[in-house]
Amino acid sequence: MFESFSEIFDPRTRCSYSIDEIFFGALTMDLLKCGSRNQYNNLWREEPFRQNFECQFKLSLPHADTIDEVIRQTPPEYLEEIRTRLVKHLIENKSLRRFRIFGSHYLVAVDATGIASFNERHCPHCLMKTSKNGVVSYFHYVLEAKLVTTSGLAISIGSEFIENPDGEDYDKQDCEQKAFKRLVRKIKKAFPRLPICLLANGLYPTDPVFDICLEYGWNFIITLKDNALKTFQKEASLFKHTAKPRTVDLACKGWEIYREYKYLNDIQYHKRKFEWLSLCEIKFQTETGEITENQFVYITNIRQNIENVIETADSGRLRWKIENEGFNVQKNNGYGMEHKYSRLNYIAMQNYYLILQIAHLVNQLGEISKTLTIILQEHSKATIKDLWMKLFGYLIFVEHIDTDRPPG
Ligand SMILES: [Zn+2]
Repeated sequence: MFESFSEIFDPRTRCSYSIDEIFFGALTMDLLKCGSRNQYNNLWREEPFRQNFECQFKLSLPHADTIDEVIRQTPPEYLEEIRTRLVKHLIENKSLRRFRIFGSHYLVAVDATGIASFNERHCPHCLMKTSKNGVVSYFHYVLEAKLVTTSGLAISIGSEFIENPDGEDYDKQDCEQKAFKRLVRKIKKAFPRLPICLLANGLYPTDPVFDICLEYGWNFIITLKDNALKTFQKEASLFKHTAKPRTVDLACKGWEIYREYKYLNDIQYHKRKFEWLSLCEIKFQTETGEITENQFVYITNIRQNIENVIETADSGRLRWKIENEGFNVQKNNGYGMEHKYSRLNYIAMQNYYLILQIAHLVNQLGEISKTLTIILQEHSKATIKDLWMKLFGYLIFVEHIDTDRPPG
C-alpha cells in the first residue's frame, strides 16, 4: 500500500510532505475513525501524537487542509487501482478461498447507498429530487460491489458513482441500473478471471442483469419480490407443490429456528430457463413465546439439488451484509461516511469515499487479527470501540513510544 501511494502522480510543484505521506494521512483519518477533518486536526495538534505516529510509521503526518489540497486534484482512478491491487493480493494469497460458494465462486453483493445530500446544488453532477411541496434537494449516491463472507467481512471491490453528466442538458438522470452496467464492466476489467456469484436485491431480476451474468460467466442469486417477474413466478407456482422440501431445525441463543428450503429447476423466463428457490424461516423465542416468520424467494442460475439448496439460499441471504457490515458500519461506527469531508469538490468527495473503502478493508482485517482477538478474549467486556479509545490515549499521552519494544 505504501508503495502504491508513492506512485500516485503528485500535482504539486512545491511541497513539504511526500505524496505517500499525504495519502497515508488521509487513510489515517479513517483508520482511526476520526469521522471528520476537524477531529483529525484535533489529534494532529497534539505533538506527542505526531511524534509517536512518525515513530511507528516512519512518515510525517500532514494537516488535513494540506491533505485536502492534493485530494481535490487527484483522479479517483488512482485509488480505485490501489484498492484493486490490495484485493487481488488477498485473493492471490488465498485468504478468502474458504468463503467461496461450493468452493468455487466468490460472493459479491451489489447495492447503492447515499453518501451526501444538500439543500442547494453542490456540483454539476448532483442528482436531484423534487418533493411533493416543490422543494428540490440535491444528493450523491454510489453503487457498491462488496465481496462478502459468512464470517462477516464486506470488502469493497468496486464503486460506481451515480452522477448526472456535466451541465443541465440531459433527458433522464443517471440511475442505479445504468451505474450497474458501468460497475460490472469495471469489475470484469479489474478481475477478469475471478469466478463471481452476484447477490442482489429485488431491483435486479431484469433481462440486462441476466444478460451480463451469462456473458461474464457469473452465477447469480437475486431476490424476487412478490410482484417481480410475474410470468416466472406464475410458472413456479404451478409446480411449487411438487418441490420436495429440505428442512433444518436449529436452536441458538434463546431461539428455536425451523427452516424449509424448496427449489425448482428449469423454470421458463423469456426463452431462457432459470432456477427458483425459496426459504421459509420460522423463529420461536423460547422465553417470550414470540413467533416470527420470514419468506425469502430467489432466482438463480445455479442448478439446484437436495445437496446444494441450503448453501445457495443461505448465500443469497448474505446480501444483507453489504448493508449491515458495509454501509451501516461506514456510516455509524466512527467512519462518518456521510460526513462532508470536502464540501464543494466532487473529485475530493469521490476520493474520500474510496480512501474510506481502503481503510475499512485494513481495519476489518486488523479487527479479526490474532492480536486483537486475543486481547478481546482476555478482556471479556472490552469492545473494538474501547480498544480504539485506548489506542488514541496511548498515542497522545505516552511520550516517545519505543518502536523496538512491543507495546504493553
Ligand atoms: Zn454534487
